[in-house]
Amino acid sequence: MTEMVCILCPRGCRLTVSEGPEWAVRGNGCPRGAVYGRSEAESPVRVVTATCRARIPEDLAGMDLPRRVPLKTSAGVPKARAPELARQLLCLEAELPVREGDVLIEDWDATGVSVVVTRSIPPLS
Ligand code: SF4
Repeated sequence: MTEMVCILCPRGCRLTVSEGPEWAVRGNGCPRGAVYGRSEAESPVRVVTATCRARIPEDLAGMDLPRRVPLKTSAGVPKARAPELARQLLCLEAELPVREGDVLIEDWDATGVSVVVTRSIPPLS
């Protein structure tokens, strides 16, 4: 039996998940909580947010630009592997300009999850 709080909405229902051949989720205020509870008990995933270094090319050198590019994964990665990906992203470098939605890593380690830019730099006018 596993207990957890559903984080899918502000109500924060306290879930109790019984594992085994007959999965049962109790305490959920809506069907989404049942799916979340089972997924968290069975194979928890986390969306990873991070930043990477920005490489500024000569033609943009005169602009006042941020030195870090904000990133996030396109979906959750296995929770146990999230720190490994976060460390990898710290060493990543993206050449400016970048656009929101640019894919910096596709199908990270065959997980089907990509790493995308979350803000255009320089901002689009
Ligand atoms: S179970 Fe449903 S109502 Fe409860 S916190 Fe999760 S999403 Fe919200």
